[in-house]
Formats: sequence, structure tokens, C-alpha cells
Amino acid sequence: MSAAVSLTGRPLFADEPGRKVVAKEPWGRVEEVNDGIWAIVSTPLEKKDWTTLANGGIIAGKERVLVVESFARTEGAAWAARQARELTGRWPTDVVITHYHGDHANGVAGFRQDGGETPRVWTTAATRELLPRGGRNDGRTDAAARAEIYDAAGVLDASESTEIDLGGRKVHLHPRAGHTASDVTIEVEDPSVVFYGDLLWNRMFPNYRDTTPTVFASSIRAAMRERDTVYVPGHGPLADEQDIERLLSVLSEIEAVARESFSREITAGQAATGFRLPESLGEWTMFSDNYFEVAISAWHRELAKEQD
Ligand SMILES: [Zn+2]
Repeated sequence: MSAAVSLTGRPLFADEPGRKVVAKEPWGRVEEVNDGIWAIVSTPLEKKDWTTLANGGIIAGKERVLVVESFARTEGAAWAARQARELTGRWPTDVVITHYHGDHANGVAGFRQDGGETPRVWTTAATRELLPRGGRNDGRTDAAARAEIYDAAGVLDASESTEIDLGGRKVHLHPRAGHTASDVTIEVEDPSVVFYGDLLWNRMFPNYRDTTPTVFASSIRAAMRERDTVYVPGHGPLADEQDIERLLSVLSEIEAVARESFSREITAGQAATGFRLPESLGEWTMFSDNYFEVAISAWHRELAKEQD
């Protein structure tokens, strides 16, 4: 039996055996990845607590501390910042937002709480343009502070990787595309860790809303490494190479049903009805019941463009 199949018996957000959990809350946990690197694994479906919603992480150097993502709510980012201070002795100095979706970006004002100095926020120009600026101050997000921080964000080069030296630890911010038009992966060489943002989903089916399906899989492959690496997905538990291969198989299944339905002029909704992933690919939790339809629609849009 393959590892993929044996995974199916384990609850989606069960603690990973052999990995040290340094903090645990109803919305997520902080897992030690290696010396000075932690992953924030959100568990939104466990208690329906969407404080953080997306995964992220903390990367510490001698002089700077970088937090990956700003999470769904102000309180989520503030919690991540407090975790960083507790674990490293330093309030975050830098924050990278991997793409413009609200669950990765909305909480950014939380980095101003608790007397902490506002960190430098990094993102691509395209992401900065598309970040969610509207909304109310409803206690979940602080729209005015959020807009101010977004406007001051440092813009990453969209054509090549940006190196940030945290002091004895270099981090590469690599522009990519596929999940959205403007994704960034956060990559550390030693120890080998890749924070994928929403280019990687583990045991949770991806949201294709803004996805370019033909680019999605190739971007995933491009960030994979030959050596043992911890891969931090945007959603779901930490991943290894096998988990990524499983996701790529899921993407192939979607491509097949999308291409077939497109050629037979069957709508995405009809194609999604009754569609199931093969059991050999394990269980894939859906954030929303219509995610197959959203995925097939994204493919149909692209195939229609190819025909023009
Ligand atoms: Zn996303």
C-alpha cells in the first residue's frame, strides 16, 4: 500500500508525529520545522475558527525576523507576531504576502498591535495592486490601517528572485504564477524549506478561482527540490515530495475531466456533478462544495482562450 493511501485514515489536522508543536490554538498551531524556522498550520475546519485561515510561518535570523503571510484577521496576524516575539525575542521586522487573497492578507494591521513597530511588508507590484482595500472596521480587520500598510509595502522584482538577509540566514522570495497571476514562494536553502503559498495544497482541494491551470502544475514542479525538503502548503498539513506528487495527480484528473467536457460542450457545472477523484489519491477536503466546478470552469476559460 502506498503512503498516499495509508494517509487517508488519519484526520486532516491531527498533530504530525515527530514534529514539535510549540503553540496550539482553536484556529491553528505553530510547528517547529528546524532551528529558527516554524510553520503556522491553520486548522479552520476543526472548530470553524477562521482567525488565521491560511498557513504561514516564522523565519528568524540574527537581526531580522520574517513572517510569511498576514492571515485572515487582525487577531490572526497579531497572534503570529506574538509567537515570533516569544520564539525569537524579536517582533517581526519583515512580512511577505504571497498573493492578494484575503485569507493571506486581510489581517496585516495585527502586526501593529502590542506596541510592536510595523514590519516592512513585501509583495509583488501586481499583488499590491490587487490586495483587498475595502471593507469595514468590523473587529476582524482594520481596513484603514491595512490600506496604509499595503500602500507602504516594498515591491518585489517580478522577474527574478529577491534575496533578504535576516542575519546569518538568507531567504529568497521567488516570483511565480499559477494560483494567481502573481504568486511568491519563500525559499530557504539550508535547512531546505519552501513556503509555497497557495501554489501548494495538501489534502485540501485547491481553490481555482483566479488560477491559470496550464501554469499551476509547472509552477509547483519548478519549486520542488532534489533533496529532502519541508514544503509548507498554503492550506493543509506540512507536505513532502509524495504529497506534492499526489496534488499533481489531482490536478491531472481535473485537467482530464475539464478537457473532455470542454470538447463535448458540457458545462463545468454538469461535468462537476458526480465527478469524484480516484480513491487512490486519498481524501481531499473541500473548503466549499463547488470547488470542482470552479476548477473545471477555470480550465474551460483557458481552453476557450486557446481556441480564439
Ligand atoms: Zn489563495
